[in-house]
Amino acid sequence: MTDGATLYIDGKWTGAADGAVFEVQDPSSDVAFGVASAGGAADARAALNAATAALPAWSRTTAYERSEILVRAHRLLNERAEALAQLMTREQGKPLRMARAEVRYAGDFLLWFAEEAKRVYGMTIPSARADQRFTVLRQPVGVVAAITPWNYPISMITRKVAPAIAAGCTTVLKPAEQTPLCAVAVFEILHEAGLPAGVANLVTAADPAPVSDVWLDAPAVRKLTFTGSTEVGKHLAARAAGSMKRVSMELGGHAPFLVFDDADVEHAAKGAALVKYLNTGQACICPNRIYVQRPNVEAFTELFTTRVAKLKVGAGTTDGVTVGPLIDGAAMQKMQRQVEDAVAKGARLLTGGSPVRPEGLTGQNFFAPTVIADVTPEMLIYREETFGPIAAIIGFDDESQAVTMANDTHYGLASYVYTDDLRRATRVTEALRFGMVGLNDINPTSAAAPFGGVGESGTGREGGPTGIDEYLDVKVIGAAV
Ligand code: NAD
Repeated sequence: MTDGATLYIDGKWTGAADGAVFEVQDPSSDVAFGVASAGGAADARAALNAATAALPAWSRTTAYERSEILVRAHRLLNERAEALAQLMTREQGKPLRMARAEVRYAGDFLLWFAEEAKRVYGMTIPSARADQRFTVLRQPVGVVAAITPWNYPISMITRKVAPAIAAGCTTVLKPAEQTPLCAVAVFEILHEAGLPAGVANLVTAADPAPVSDVWLDAPAVRKLTFTGSTEVGKHLAARAAGSMKRVSMELGGHAPFLVFDDADVEHAAKGAALVKYLNTGQACICPNRIYVQRPNVEAFTELFTTRVAKLKVGAGTTDGVTVGPLIDGAAMQKMQRQVEDAVAKGARLLTGGSPVRPEGLTGQNFFAPTVIADVTPEMLIYREETFGPIAAIIGFDDESQAVTMANDTHYGLASYVYTDDLRRATRVTEALRFGMVGLNDINPTSAAAPFGGVGESGTGREGGPTGIDEYLDVKVIGAAV
């Protein structure tokens, strides 16, 4: 790749058709450290043409050939894991330790789908007619358009591209405008792993709509896979309906974290503090509403706040930093608005609550890890996805009230339950309207487990034993004999 030529189309690195570029910023300094091609409609069409032309031959390759390429990509990713993590921290801001963990997670999808490629089984079904046989095939859906967010800038790409490749689909991908260089690093790996020209194409862009409009309006694109906000997801899904594309939507979350009176409060406080501030609170699975049963609320709040107050804010490359910068000024304003609204409506601010400027850093996007208690349903933070380092604590009296409050949201991605009562654990995990539940555990995610939400958190599942199905159509052949 030459400097600034960040489009990967038909197996070659190139600049935008009109030569436009945009700067890539380090969110901890707000200083530009790179440039990317600002792809537009003409580039989106070129990428789509390449993916369309590559589809017939690619869909006829054996699963073993496709698997081998993914295995090689996995090896290359591991070989350059440290460089990828450093790039991610620079471009997205997360602490290096978390960037390293994300690179491993991203690699898991390459390997998982390398294995899954070989397990795309069909079926035979008995017919009611003696002179007929039913055979069921699973075939690649065709060209896939993928759009990914900035918060997990490498793993959200492998979580889509690996199953598309494994299934025999070709793909066009647009990463978030904040993190184009992480996407470039993934496509360099795919290229070096021997992926044939046109099978996966990358269009970086400063303005997403001209690129996505071309793909969404094209009948040749048969599937849209999107990870990002619910608002944008609805807009894209509506447009994809124009040519009845299949869609997978991994959207926003508003995770409840329930701590019952029989739970180990210390374990719960530790878990909540880890998962709430994961990626500076910018993860779709971060708890947004921490519900604690009343006898425990004071003890939990004290243990939790003590931990949060010790979190170190700074540049992701600095040793010991656990909370990096937010992605931009709009995110800072949202934090300020949620805190002010909650305090004005009677919440107690226990720690944080305002922007901070870590020593020696010029960046404007650091917000202190914040804890707010006595949060009520009238407050913005109770309803809106926070996507930042603010924890809201709410007391409850009994199990049915807790479940009702947890389910009182149009989102349905992750949720968490802390209890040592087995019967309660069964009742509550079954009653929660969420795609994922962490039971006395803060990480219900893995390449091996289905990831996704219900309600306005989206549709479809990524990873796990069903992840490849999102990229396969089912065909039945009823044959006369
Ligand atoms: P976003 O919706 O603003 O952007 C996501 C992607 O959509 C980016 O590539 C962006 O360029 C593109 N986009 C934005 N507007 C567009 C438009 N009008 N037309 C076409 N494309 C457009 O979201 P974000 O701020 O990047 O990410 C944060 C959101 O993503 C949060 O809501 C978070 O919960 C969600 N998220 C969900 C998951 C999940 O798996 N469910 C994972 C990570 C993030």
